Amino acid sequence: MNQRSTINDQQSIDSILASLRLDADRRCWDERLREATSHDVEAALASRPGSYSLTKLLALVSPAAEEYLEQMAVLSRRLTIQRFGRAMRLYAPVYLSSHCVNRCQYCGFNRDNTFARARLSVDEAVAEAEILASEGYRDILLVSSEDRAFITIAYLTELARRLQDKFSFISIEIFQMSAPEYEQLCAAGIQGVTLYQETYDRATYARYHLGGPKADYDTRLRAPQDMGQAGMREIGLGVLLGLADWRVETLALAEHASYLMRRYWQSRVSFSFPRLRPACGAPPTEFPHLLTDKNLVQMMLALRLCFADAGIVLSTREPARLRDHLMGLAVTRISAGSRTSPGGYTNPDANTGQFEVNDHRSPSEVAAVIRAQGFDPVWKDWDRALWAGQKAGLDTGL
Ligand code: SF4
Repeated sequence: MNQRSTINDQQSIDSILASLRLDADRRCWDERLREATSHDVEAALASRPGSYSLTKLLALVSPAAEEYLEQMAVLSRRLTIQRFGRAMRLYAPVYLSSHCVNRCQYCGFNRDNTFARARLSVDEAVAEAEILASEGYRDILLVSSEDRAFITIAYLTELARRLQDKFSFISIEIFQMSAPEYEQLCAAGIQGVTLYQETYDRATYARYHLGGPKADYDTRLRAPQDMGQAGMREIGLGVLLGLADWRVETLALAEHASYLMRRYWQSRVSFSFPRLRPACGAPPTEFPHLLTDKNLVQMMLALRLCFADAGIVLSTREPARLRDHLMGLAVTRISAGSRTSPGGYTNPDANTGQFEVNDHRSPSEVAAVIRAQGFDPVWKDWDRALWAGQKAGLDTGL
């Protein structure tokens, strides 16, 4: 049965996930995944590359598909090059604050942890960004914990205004906001927002989010819609890999992405793949669903084969060897030389990071590997003028 046929397009994302049992009591999916056969996988691989149905994705993330990874990799590489050329966008994060009101049990910035926290003034954040600009970056990601008292809309719009000349793509990975707030950020030149649901399983979500505004599952789930309504050019989704079974999480993530793509066609949806990393107060032994490298590769390839035009983002959480392997298969945007603490570029030893980086190579070393693999490291965002024209057309009804 094609699961897509069961969904009414007017449904909200929470009711879609509930009707498919992807947000609670998900044992039925374990069974379906176990029952998927090589015949199902071959049917999925024979379907149009880059097209999505839940049935197809189920086959591609099933244990049966582990025997087909080589074939999936060949198809994924071909599709990625067809859609994105041989360009690999390079970006770097700037952490703005490590003060946080939330109690996420996997995160070093959890409000219960005691360490010297830091906040960057707008001037200090600009100084960090200037270091990245001098290294060649034109794509910058502003990251902050939930510190609304300090990281205000006024702060972000001023910072975006001051970064406009040096960066062609400015995005944020910050606490969830409302549609009017996203609109203000969009107007100030911020073009992308990444917000991970962390896990789509409600019980697991409640177990790891013990306090603060982020403990509200539904508010978080709705935020990407607000980004779409605000006209954000890029909407980044992801789950924190290790909290719950990755195969079922991939199905829920894909339903969320498909929902957004159907409604907000002017925005590009991208996927990130944050695997749990050791962090202050959060040893990896506490997490029962950690992924192997092979699992991560399968997830990434399966999503590419279902979503031809989705951005696929890879961070320095992953080790160099694995990143090098994945570059040519599905990835479209990759970070390098990242520091995960506020002030980390001007003073690398000053503050505690959100997580431990796993690829310590410099941007130029990563760029050299990209070139050696036959791809072009792209520091600049060539789509910007196109998007601005498209948006102007939309705004004026053309
Ligand atoms: S994951 Fe984000 S919201 Fe949660 S404690 Fe860490 S910084 Fe705060």
